[in-house]
This record gives sequence, structure tokens and C-alpha cells, in this order.
Amino acid sequence: MADKTLRIPESAPGPWYVDDTCTPCHVCLDEAGPQSGFSLLKYTDDESKVIFVRQPVSADELAAAQSALEICPTNAIGDDGD
Ligand code: SF4
Repeated sequence: MADKTLRIPESAPGPWYVDDTCTPCHVCLDEAGPQSGFSLLKYTDDESKVIFVRQPVSADELAAAQSALEICPTNAIGDDGD
């Protein structure tokens, strides 16, 4: 489970976040990154982590974020942030 106390600060404010255990392996981008059509997630500028660009709002976006959470091998994605 992701740890909101380890949240990457660049991640968009709101309940969904990525913590610093992101490797980054990039598989979540297939679910909710630019190529997926949702553009919820992207690499940080130095490409060392993935962050939420914005919070999911619609049902489809929430489903995409949930898919990203479930596929993340390090459990770095959480939905219990502030
Ligand atoms: S799937 Fe998890 S570890 Fe991989 S890039 Fe996304 S947040 Fe980081």
C-alpha cells in the first residue's frame, strides 16, 4: 500500500498520489498516461518518478487511475492522500 507520508511533492494535490517507492517502471503510464488517452500520469522532469498531473474526475478517469494503482508492482500509487 502506498504511503501518503512519502508522497512525491510534485504530484497534483488531491487524494490520488504516487509515493517515492516508484522505480519508475512505467507500466502505470499504459493505464493512465498520455498514450492511454487519459494523461493523468507522467514522468517527473528528471524522469526519476511518475506523478499525477491532475486528479481523476470522471468515472473513466477513476477507473484508469484504479487500474494504474492495481498494476503498480511497488504499490507506489495511493488514493488516500489529502
Ligand atoms: S507502476 Fe508504480 S513503480 Fe511503475 S512507474 Fe508507475 S508508480 Fe512508478
